[in-house]
Amino acid sequence: MKLPSFKTMGRCAFVTPLIIFVFMAMANVSAQSVPQQVYGRLYLDHSPVAVNIRDGKIVSVERLASLPAGDPGLVIAPGFVDNQVNGYAGVSFVFGGGELTPGGILTATRALWKEGVTTYLPTLTTNDKSILLSNFRILASNIDNPELRGSIPGFHLEGPFISPEDGYRGAHPLEFVRTPDWKEFLEYQSAADGKILQLTLAPEMEGALALIDSCRENDVVVALGHHNAPADVIAQAIDRGAKIATHLGNGAANTINRHRNPFWPQLADDRLMISIIVDGFHLLPEQIRVFHKVKGTQNTIITSDVTHFAGLEPGEYQTSEGVTIELTPEGMLRYPAQNVLYGSASPVSKGVGHVMKVTGCSLAEAVQMASTNPARLYHLHDRGEIKPGMRADLVLFRLDDFKVRVEKTLVNGEVVYVRGKE
Ligand SMILES: [Zn+2]
Repeated sequence: MKLPSFKTMGRCAFVTPLIIFVFMAMANVSAQSVPQQVYGRLYLDHSPVAVNIRDGKIVSVERLASLPAGDPGLVIAPGFVDNQVNGYAGVSFVFGGGELTPGGILTATRALWKEGVTTYLPTLTTNDKSILLSNFRILASNIDNPELRGSIPGFHLEGPFISPEDGYRGAHPLEFVRTPDWKEFLEYQSAADGKILQLTLAPEMEGALALIDSCRENDVVVALGHHNAPADVIAQAIDRGAKIATHLGNGAANTINRHRNPFWPQLADDRLMISIIVDGFHLLPEQIRVFHKVKGTQNTIITSDVTHFAGLEPGEYQTSEGVTIELTPEGMLRYPAQNVLYGSASPVSKGVGHVMKVTGCSLAEAVQMASTNPARLYHLHDRGEIKPGMRADLVLFRLDDFKVRVEKTLVNGEVVYVRGKE
């Protein structure tokens, strides 16, 4: 092979950087995603819109005179944000024994996308300390997996600093209930790489108010739940920064004092938001109506509290304790032997339709409770609304007879689900 002459090399010295420059410029163009347009009827007022997306973000929302010919006219809304997911599609975030895997986290996330849930907080409940630590480590080391597309911004720890009383404790095992302790919380927070965004605790427990102070100072949202606190303690907890009541109306004893119970003070204080499980089974319609009337759309969050049985086909399943439970076609998860609920199996998309049905609220309000409000509570400023600058986390759905039927989901601008093309 003939070596280039000095003169040729000199020209190469000029031409090569030019070629590299042109190549880099072309690469730069191809690295940018092609602008996309998504059409639909805006959830706020049902008007036809085109949402323009580039590089995963919404760049503009154009109001249209009409949708393009042949467009199905689906509702377009910001993806739902669920602050309480114990598991989904057979994947439990709660169980130990090596059950939680990176693949499982992806499976649960993809299954939630099918229901329009584009952001969620995996929720760990009262458990053996080593299991909590290990599961937080597994979750924290996986949430940056690009395949999850930023769907998990952090976690919710429900317990172990809750009431030991039967009824109020719910299904949380008594042997693992512990006294509130900031140092212990920091162990969990360290395992979670600082990503525990919410702690649900019982304010009447010794040391709980001091723990609320520490959480407030460290931007961890404190939720009151699984407690039997008197009115004065609830007021002190809110004074010191508690922001929300976890699944109000549940996590309480069946028989309560008609005057002195935890519901009245939590309902009466306008500073406290509430989350409610609106699956059609955990609360009666009149409870949902009253809670929503008292707190208003602004201070209400629809949560799911789903277990790993959610997202599975209806049928009978065995729990890890060998108990037979039944998931009905309507989405009720029940323990037939005792005729009681065995947790929730309905994603927040179901709650959107159901809250409209029982309260008469608008779709815009229902979506605010299922997306905008939780996004704001956890300072997720890039999601929960459809406007320029937001992540293009979008759900397109039909609303038939108060049932949300998700047809398409985008996460960070990528189409991650289309009905019939799974
Ligand atoms: Zn609970």
